[in-house]
Parts: sequence; structure tokens; C-alpha cells
Amino acid sequence: MMAIHAGAALLAGGWAKDVRIVCDEGSISSVETGVSPQPQDERHAVIVPAMPNLHSHAFQRAMAGLAEIRGPGDDSFWSWRTVMYKFALSMTPDHVEAVAAQLYMEMLEAGFGRVGEFHYLHNDRDGSHYGNIAEMAERIGAAASQTGIGLTLLPVFYAHSGFGGQAPIDGQKRFIHSLDSYEKLMQGAQAVVDGLPGATLGIAPHSLRAVTAEELSAIEPLAKGGPIHIHVAEQTKEVEDSLAFSGARPVEWLLENAPVDGRWCLIHATHMAETETRGMAKSGAVAGLCPITEANLGDGIFPAPAFLAEGGHYGVGSDSNILISVPEELRTLEYSQRLSHRARNVIADAGRSTGEKLFRQALEGGGRALASRNGLEKGKSADFVALDISAVSYLPISQILDQWIFAGGVSVDSVWMRGKKRVQAGRHIHRREISDRFNKVMAELLDS
Ligand SMILES: [Zn+2]
Repeated sequence: MMAIHAGAALLAGGWAKDVRIVCDEGSISSVETGVSPQPQDERHAVIVPAMPNLHSHAFQRAMAGLAEIRGPGDDSFWSWRTVMYKFALSMTPDHVEAVAAQLYMEMLEAGFGRVGEFHYLHNDRDGSHYGNIAEMAERIGAAASQTGIGLTLLPVFYAHSGFGGQAPIDGQKRFIHSLDSYEKLMQGAQAVVDGLPGATLGIAPHSLRAVTAEELSAIEPLAKGGPIHIHVAEQTKEVEDSLAFSGARPVEWLLENAPVDGRWCLIHATHMAETETRGMAKSGAVAGLCPITEANLGDGIFPAPAFLAEGGHYGVGSDSNILISVPEELRTLEYSQRLSHRARNVIADAGRSTGEKLFRQALEGGGRALASRNGLEKGKSADFVALDISAVSYLPISQILDQWIFAGGVSVDSVWMRGKKRVQAGRHIHRREISDRFNKVMAELLDS
């Protein structure tokens, strides 16, 4: 049992003062407000729940910052994908584990508590399955275990290079599964999750480019009621290809042909017509927004005001993992809306903190998308963050999230996962060994 006393904490109902949180066996056993600290309590100024990171491709952390050189012609998402395939083709299971551990450590240091790993680097370098078909999923599990991050493992079903079941290209050979081999992979993934406290399992049909309608319905039962994540409408070319193939836009097609509901998370959903935006919001599916990656890849801007007006849910993910930052994901989301609508405080309520609104919505939507029990409440997993506000101690508590997200002066001090402290004074407790191994692996990868 351990107890923390916070000057202020963000509870389900809003900010509360003098909060005492007691944790037992990984869960929160009580939350009291307006109470004094007990002598044994660890004391902090501000505690907030850890933010879910609903979309990550761990191996892509290895190429962060390495695709920022313009090609000979117009540059685009598709040139980035060429660099990504080069990395994807060279990494071994040891590389993937080291890179994922570095990434998950950085996520915890940033204040993320759980990752939705949209895991698609499955096969050996020649495209054959590993002797243990879930080898790479086990490496993801090992990285989660070493760092202590919460894992929602989403093994990807990837079978084709384009709409209508087109044969995969050579650069995709490490991602490919048949329906039969995918079922075996899911059994292996279940064992990974069973061995990790607090981990959950879902499925991830990669995209409508990579999965046919028949395959999509065939794999759906393998989710067993857990999350279903899919990339959709990230690029305008994908919308054009979808229209050419089926006469429907990607989100429109999904809403008409798949049982989209609250278990689903539609990653990106950037390019939607108004009817799609409305239909998606009404379906209960979470929009998996990846603002930093979407800006980096020049994807486009999510239609947030229309989606939120219909009661839509969203969360944030770091996707390509070019930069890991809770405040920057939320800031980029809000700033993209401001630039596109030429307005201020777009994802906001009149007279209320915009930062708090962004934070709470992403917390709630991310939790839904990852089937996780987050929030500072009795019975929930003890996953939370102490913020260092010493540089802005003059501010009222209601301004702290605005300061963190838009201005600076606030940073992550400590992070607890399942009641165990994993980050202290801004550094992961295993930072040295994890980053030493990562640096060695990166030198190998860039040398080859
Ligand atoms: Zn993605």
C-alpha cells in the first residue's frame, strides 16, 4: 500500500484540492479530498491521470528525424513511406525490442500511461513467419514489461497493397498474414497479454487498402469484444482510390458495411464529407487523432468542430513516433483548428480552460479506444502523473493545463503505473540501460 497527497488533483468531476490517493495492488483503493497529508504520504503539488496514447508503431521510432530531407520532386506521405519500408525491412527482433523500450520509456517520461500498439512488423526479413509466429509481439510485450507502460496490443491484419485485394509489394512482405496465420498470431498475442498485468488485446485491420471486405468480417470475431482499430482516410489518394473501387469514400464505406460502434477506433479519419463526420460521431467510434504525425506527413486537418458538435469522441496517438509529447499533441490539434478556421479556442467551452477540455476529452476517448480503466477514482488502475509546477507556482490550478499545453513552465516530475513509480524527477528509473541499448542498436541500423 502507498499513499500520495496532492495539493490539487484532476478528478472525474474536475479539480479538487488537498487530495489523498491510496493505492493497493496496482489499483486506487481510495480518493479523499479536502484532507491533510499523513506523515508517510509522498507529497506533490499536482496529480493528473496518465494520458492514453492510442496509436503507435514502435519500430518507426528508429527513423524519427531521418526523413526530413526533401526528395528530388514534390515530397509527400508516399516518399516518407519509402524510407519507413527501408527501416522496416532491416530490423531484427532484438532491434525492435530495444527501440520499443526506448519509445515506451519516452512515453512514460512524457506523461503517457498506456500505449495502443498497432503492431504490424510481424515477419522475418525474407517475409517468412518466425518459428514463433508471435516473436515480434513478444518483443513488444517485453519492452512494455521492462518500462512498465500499460499495453493494449493490436496485432495488425495486412494482406494487400491496394483496394480490391491487390497483391502485396516487396516492401510489405514483413507485414503480411493470411487469415489462417493471423488466427495463430492472435493466439500468440493472447499469451503475451496474459503474461502482462493490465494488458489488453484487440485487433487492427490495417486499412481498407490492405484488407478486403470479406477479410474484415472474417477477423472481426477475433477481437472478442475488445478494441478494433483501423487506419482510414489519412490521405486524399486513399479517398480517390476508395471511390474508384467501390463508389464510396472510406469512412462512408465502413459505416455502411462494417458494424462500427464504440469498440472501434478510426485512426486519422482526416478526409470526411459532412455526412461521414456526422455518421462517425453518431456511431460511437473514437477518432484516433495523431496531430504531430499528421502535421509531419502533411495529411490534412481533422474536422473537429463538426465532429464534436455531434457528440464525437477522440483521443490522441503518437503514430510515427517522431516526437513524444502530451502537450504538443494537444497543442497541435488545437492550433491546426485555429489555423484552418482562423479562430481562437476552437475545441473549447466559453469561459472555461481550453487546455483542460483538450486533456479531459483525450483522456476519456483514449481510455475508450484502449479498453483501459483510467482516471483518479477508486477501483481504477493506479496510473497517474505528478506535474512539476514550481516555475509557475503563482498560477491558479485552473490554469495549469493551459500553461502545460500552450505556454510551458510545467513538466512531468513523476509517473506511477499500477501504483509503481516508473519516472522520478522526469527520468525513467531504467533510463540508462534502456538508452544505452537503444544507442547501440541505432548505430548498427544506420551502419547497415
Ligand atoms: Zn498509423
